[in-house]
Amino acid sequence: MEVEIGKSTTATKKIEQDMDALVLICMEILDNVPDVSSTFKIISEQLGNFFDLDELAFVEHDKEQKALLYCWSRSGDSFVAGLQDNAEYEWKKLVHIASPDGSIVLKADGLERFGLAGGSSVCIALSTSVRDFKGSVLFGDRKSGRDWEMIRPTLVRIANQIFYRLRMLKKEEANRIALDRKFNYDGVTGLLVYNKLIEQVGLNIEANGTKGLACVYTDFSGFKYFNETYGFEQGDLVLGRFARLLKEHYGESGLFCRITSDHFAGFIRGEDTNAILDDYKAFTEEFSEDCNKEYSRTNIVLASGFYTISNSDTSIAAMMDNANEARKKCKEQMAETQVRVYTEDLRQELENVRMINANILKALKNREFHAYLQPKVSLKSGKIEGAEALVRWIRPDGTRVMPDDFIGIAEQNGYITKIDFAVLEQVLEYLEDAVAKDEEVVPVSVNFSRKNNEIDDFVSRVMERISSHHVNPKLIEAEITESVFMADLSEVDSNMRKLRDAGVEVSVDDFGSGYSSLNILAKVAADTIKLDRLFLNNAKKDEKGLTVIRCLTQMLKKLGFMVIAEGVETEEQLTWIRLAECDMVQGFYYAKPMTIEEFRVFLKEFNSREVDFAEESFDNCKVEE
Ligand code: C2E
Ligand code: MG
Ligand code: MG
Repeated sequence: MEVEIGKSTTATKKIEQDMDALVLICMEILDNVPDVSSTFKIISEQLGNFFDLDELAFVEHDKEQKALLYCWSRSGDSFVAGLQDNAEYEWKKLVHIASPDGSIVLKADGLERFGLAGGSSVCIALSTSVRDFKGSVLFGDRKSGRDWEMIRPTLVRIANQIFYRLRMLKKEEANRIALDRKFNYDGVTGLLVYNKLIEQVGLNIEANGTKGLACVYTDFSGFKYFNETYGFEQGDLVLGRFARLLKEHYGESGLFCRITSDHFAGFIRGEDTNAILDDYKAFTEEFSEDCNKEYSRTNIVLASGFYTISNSDTSIAAMMDNANEARKKCKEQMAETQVRVYTEDLRQELENVRMINANILKALKNREFHAYLQPKVSLKSGKIEGAEALVRWIRPDGTRVMPDDFIGIAEQNGYITKIDFAVLEQVLEYLEDAVAKDEEVVPVSVNFSRKNNEIDDFVSRVMERISSHHVNPKLIEAEITESVFMADLSEVDSNMRKLRDAGVEVSVDDFGSGYSSLNILAKVAADTIKLDRLFLNNAKKDEKGLTVIRCLTQMLKKLGFMVIAEGVETEEQLTWIRLAECDMVQGFYYAKPMTIEEFRVFLKEFNSREVDFAEESFDNCKVEE
């Protein structure tokens, strides 16, 4: 008996050791499963084979309703799948009937109660060790006579291990999703962030090509005003609503991101890009209409750019840039929602900007910027009494780029001040040489961009250049455009005063082209006012236009300014200007801007002629085409 007892104790010990080893193996497996679904697959196979089981079912009881997480069946025909719908299989009821070790063994009659027809016996192991994640594992057998007694504590231990690991995996997954949300989605709108959009569009193009694909870029125009009126919270709500409607409207066919603040970009796929354009236009119009009904104190309008993608060679970032460039073509102060399309003309314009930015510095070093001179003729004497220096960029291949094509860009990239000083330098070189040769000279005006006012020692630099060429400051005039008076008047004003104190005359260019009020005339430190070409264009239309020039000229003269009319092209215009009693005329009627060398000849010939200046146009002079 002793031996028997000894034998039985040894056998029990052996089983216990085997069970311990099995639990360890399970822990090892569970430690290495990468995700929830592989956990079930791997562990089911292992346990099913080890215990020679027919069925396994994993049920989570944490939620209000239980959830059958996974079902494994050796034959493929499961008798435990119905657990999900069985009203008896509730956590509370299971706990009530479980043995102290946390297991329940069911045989014939019990199986029927749980709707487990087809099985012979089952052992249900309840996992109670993880408080916030309750679950049960059902081990099923189709063969009769299975003895669960020896292994039921082990099955409970394994169930505990499984649900402990599942809880960890679920938490990790939840963290991953939260991180994904944090880094890949925008907090205000829930849309993708820029980098994620690029990644996803890239995958989309890889899979589906670029056919029927368009890029949009939208900006809420004047949204700052909305935020000021309704507050940032409402602002965020409107942006969030726009994002939600985009997602609802475009579903699978659109991918969108918020670039920053009130700027959005997206990619839309459809049969035909023209239809996408029409639809996007209608969508944005409807959105702004709806918003304006709700927020009636402001006017929400959307400015959008549209770029049709024709090939995948263009980078996704460049596609968005192109749509954004098209967006910038919307009117600045717009009252209605607009969509502008990226066109070939715009492409060329941007190409031009790139060309200028890339070459401007080299061009300065190579002295490719040339000062051309256009005469100013006095209406009293009929002689040339001044000239304006106008820059031309002559590229190494001989092409001539006109100022309107590069001055704006040079103002943006900051090189304009260098260009202005290059022009000043050439004018001074000419004047120095002409004076030395005893040639007749007239004051030459140089255009100084408003950007020069950002240079601390602007005036002293101008004066230093003048004196280093030994030129009388009276021969240099500074032309400052009217538009500068709208912004930083105090700085400009102080520079103008300093220039005049140093003997350099100052003129206000393009007067009447901008929005400056007549009030500035009372305080502006200038010698000359140049009337913009616009006045002549208007005078063409009706008599009133002419009256405007006359009255304006008289007023300016009364205020002590010299008045120059710009852009006189015809004899008729010259007559008007005479009637208006302007002091000087500059325009194609007399001559177009010409090279300095041509001007030297022109000046000499023009001023030496005894002619009726009103009749002469000097057609035979070689001037700019
Ligand atoms: P602006 O200073 O008002 O110069 C007068 C412009 O009118 C010149 O154009 C001149 O060629 C043009 N013009 C003169 N007479 C007539 C005419 O009878 N009919 C017509 N249709 N046009 C006439 P341009 O040379 O193309 O220069 C355009 C603008 O570029 C200038 O306007 C000035 O604002 C700017 N600019 C030119 N050179 C320089 C420069 O060296 N520095 C800076 N900062 N700006 C410059
Ligand atoms: Mg000018
Ligand atoms: Mg002008």
